[in-house]
Amino acid sequence: MKSITIAIDGPAGAGKSTTARRVAERLGYVYIDTGAMYRAVTLAALRASTPMTNEAMGDVAASLDIVLETSSGGQLVMMNSEDVTSAIRSADVTGHVSQVSAFPLVRRALVQRQRMLGLHGGIVMDGRDIGSVVFPHAEVKIYLIADTNERVQRRLKEATARGEHISEDDVRRQIVDRDAYDSSRSESPLVKADGAHEIDTTDLTIDQQVEKILELADTYQKTYSIVSAFGNFI
Ligand code: C5P
Repeated sequence: MKSITIAIDGPAGAGKSTTARRVAERLGYVYIDTGAMYRAVTLAALRASTPMTNEAMGDVAASLDIVLETSSGGQLVMMNSEDVTSAIRSADVTGHVSQVSAFPLVRRALVQRQRMLGLHGGIVMDGRDIGSVVFPHAEVKIYLIADTNERVQRRLKEATARGEHISEDDVRRQIVDRDAYDSSRSESPLVKADGAHEIDTTDLTIDQQVEKILELADTYQKTYSIVSAFGNFI
């Protein structure tokens, strides 16, 4: 079977990370959470009180050592050898990440690394610009969406499970603001990429989302093997 690239994009809380991780597990692929990379840059910049300029933020992104490790409990995010898996989910990072991600030099540094990670396929990558910018030729592109109320409830549940005290109104404000910022920026805005399959996850379980994406991957593989077989006869 061909080692393909599966690109999953969509707004906050649409179910990208959990779904992408499970799809990768089922296929024996590598899972890359690109949001975690933008969050790590934001965390480093906040800690160092880096000025909010394209050059300064670009330097942070270019010099930071970010490693995503798969562990039995999920994905670990290592920043300059420090485990920042929880720290990158803090309210402060969440409140600043969209601003940091909008800087062109930050995107340039991270997109370059993301392309290196996916050079040989066998990867499931989720984010906002994977199907449109990072891998516009990905074999399978998915655009996950969900009703805002549903996304707020999912994020609230995750925050509560992490022991955070945050009100429903604050979660809603964060999600709405972040979506607006991510969709309206001039550099690589959140869009449904050409050729992406839109899946509305509002009424779907994680298992159903995973199965739908696996079916699309399977359809691609079958079509590819038929087309390749024809190629041998021409
Ligand atoms: O996926 P997550 O919600 O953790 O992403 C955090 C933020 O990182 C997004 O709101 C967006 O501003 C930024 N991001 C991005 N491009 C990506 C992934 C994430 O701009 N490919």
